[in-house]
Amino acid sequence: MSFQVSEELDQLLTNIKLFLVQEVYPKEKEVIEKGFNSALPILEELRNMVKKKGWWAPAMPKEYGGMGLSFLEFARISEILGTTPIGHYIFNSQAPDIGNMELMLEFGTKDQKEKYLRRLVNGEIRSCFSMVEPDRPGSNPTWIETTAQRDRDNYIINGHKWFTSSADGATFNIVMAVTNPNGEKHKKASMLIVDMDNPGFEFIKNIPVMGEEGEGWMSHAEVKYNDCQIPITNLLGAEGEGFALAQHRLGPGRIHHCMRWIGICERAFDLMCKRAVSRRITPEANLASQQTVMNWIAECRADINAARLMVLDTANKIDTHGQYKARDDISIIKFFVANILLKVLDRAIQVHGALGVTDYTPLSYWYRHERPSRIYDGPDEVHKRAVSRRILSKYNDN
Ligand SMILES: Cc1cc2nc3c(=O)[nH]c(=O)nc-3n(C[C@H](O)[C@H](O)[C@H](O)COP(=O)(O)OP(=O)(O)OC[C@H]3O[C@@H](n4cnc5c(N)ncnc54)[C@H](O)[C@@H]3O)c2cc1C
Repeated sequence: MSFQVSEELDQLLTNIKLFLVQEVYPKEKEVIEKGFNSALPILEELRNMVKKKGWWAPAMPKEYGGMGLSFLEFARISEILGTTPIGHYIFNSQAPDIGNMELMLEFGTKDQKEKYLRRLVNGEIRSCFSMVEPDRPGSNPTWIETTAQRDRDNYIINGHKWFTSSADGATFNIVMAVTNPNGEKHKKASMLIVDMDNPGFEFIKNIPVMGEEGEGWMSHAEVKYNDCQIPITNLLGAEGEGFALAQHRLGPGRIHHCMRWIGICERAFDLMCKRAVSRRITPEANLASQQTVMNWIAECRADINAARLMVLDTANKIDTHGQYKARDDISIIKFFVANILLKVLDRAIQVHGALGVTDYTPLSYWYRHERPSRIYDGPDEVHKRAVSRRILSKYNDN
């Protein structure tokens, strides 16, 4: 198998990288310091530049205004965008919107696509995804408390969710709720579209995470559904198929996350090497001359290379054999790359000393915001358990 990219894609990656280095890296500190809402004019300016260059929403079809790139091509771009905390946002490829776009593209009705998807891909609106609840284990998505009861041509939703990322300022929400309480385990829940201005929808607050509540796209909210009435036409996919849709959303989502994490690793690695050669620990010696630092650099390089190959291999398996056959690989990269990400970030911070924990580099932002990488989209332990069970089942059968 070859992971070579076409000449055209190679040129595109080079151009995007140059754009990020010249136009975006210099602005990221100001955006993080100001917060999402105050930084919107800067972000909008960058988004307009991306649109003008024809790089908007690379993973979305051309008929919706995207670049129409394949899954594997977008994986490569995602890595480059990951090198800055605002890369995916300014290319309109950020989670949770990209996951919702993919869902709607595949399962949305014509009307849902016109009303929600088109505006989402256009970048006119944002969205969120509301599955996990404070009183139920997110690691077991088949066991949720939120209900959506059918009442003639409507559903009435009641429930309490948290960590609904980017709910603050979003226009709509895709919520997971039990529609078939007596159905079999994987067929109880459905996905439903809720407008955020629905009177039955309550935005409670942004949850403080690692010392900051954040705002707008950069936040995670606690929300409630109080007799929230929506028309049955807001059902996404078929009734009882919520779990299947969630699985569908998570497969490519994990590739997107992993490639973004590799992008973060590359930037952290670059910062670490630059600091190692520029920081003198005596008038004669720099940090790079120390064996420990040299070991870290070599080990991080090996880790990042291995991680990238594993993710590309998994993306290729999804592309050729489908998600189901690639499910072990998807689980493996999810925990493997998240741990490499945190290791590389930690080492880069250590090499920077006190500077590493300031907000003068993006390292501390990532350290705070990416610790959850081992928790969301399935905690490490859940993925390891799933992989091990399937491996061991082959032995138990004999
Ligand atoms: C920053 C961030 C953003 C998020 N964004 C969203 C979002 O947009 N929408 C949304 O719906 N949710 C979101 N989540 C929620 C996320 O999906 C859940 O936190 C995750 O699924 C874990 O669920 P939990 O927190 O309830 O942990 P629990 O299920 O309570 O698990 C706690 C811990 O127990 C261990 N554990 C659990 N099950 C097992 C097992 N079977 N075997 C061994 N160990 C186990 C793991 O170590 C796990 O970390 C987000 C979370 C974070 C932190």
